[in-house]
Amino acid sequence: MSESVTTSRKLQGKVAIITGGASGIGESTARLFADHGARMVVIADIQDDLGDKVAQSIGTHRCTFMHCDAADEHQVKTTVESTVQRFDQLDIMFSNAGIISNSDQTVLDLDFSAFDRLFSVNVRGMALCVKHAARVMVERSVRGSIVCTASVAASRGTRIRTDYGMSKHAVLGLVRSASLQLGPYGIRVNCVSPNGLATPLTCHALGTEVGEVQKRYESFAYLKGVFLKPRHVADAVLFLVCGESEFVTGLDLAVDGGCVP
Ligand code: NAD
Repeated sequence: MSESVTTSRKLQGKVAIITGGASGIGESTARLFADHGARMVVIADIQDDLGDKVAQSIGTHRCTFMHCDAADEHQVKTTVESTVQRFDQLDIMFSNAGIISNSDQTVLDLDFSAFDRLFSVNVRGMALCVKHAARVMVERSVRGSIVCTASVAASRGTRIRTDYGMSKHAVLGLVRSASLQLGPYGIRVNCVSPNGLATPLTCHALGTEVGEVQKRYESFAYLKGVFLKPRHVADAVLFLVCGESEFVTGLDLAVDGGCVP
């Protein structure tokens, strides 16, 4: 078992897709889902070698990799359909793939080609995953659970990286609307909103390594004595997809240690 000893199996028999599952928060969540008895975890990502390696390390009887660009409707639809064909089920969609702008732009110097690229993954991609997962859940009368990764930037302004903050506000709008629309089918839709944490995404954006990124984000939380890690976010996602949150939908679950404004 990875990262900690798991004493209960909260996802026994479930089939899940995790976009962006090759790295960071998605990878940690894939490991946790498998530890909790998921029958199959599908890592859907554009990093083929890494995604495959993560799936192998979890165990190919419990985890598999599928190439999927979350911004491409055909690829998302195919990934969802292949999952259902191969494993005869889809209970969970963790729509998590996201990118961040690598410049410190404010609204004064927004670059709209970078803006469009970021929105194609962070907004369009999130909505595509919700749409296609929900469609098969509705067709098959599955009372499924969908979780999106938003951010603390989804509900406050950002000093820089305007496009990223805007894209995460859109994720919140998607989750709030989809939860109302899919509630009648018994499908729950929630999101997690992490504070800043060290993952390949932020290490790359800040141009430094894990320890330095953790130190930089320390001042973002009131809670002291612990650094936010991918596993903390994965634990929140697990709660949102398992039976313990059976009556929870439309929630933005902050994993932020008390975010400093
Ligand atoms: P990460 O870079 O470690 O993981 C992101 C994964 O998404 C990568 O494996 C990448 O290959 C994949 N990906 C990127 N574009 C894709 C696409 N078009 N289709 C499929 N997969 C794609 O980063 P992370 O920090 O784990 O980020 C996961 C999510 O968490 C993102 O939505 C991010 O915005 C959000 N988030 C991160 C932080 C943070 O500080 N790290 C804070 C709040 C929210």
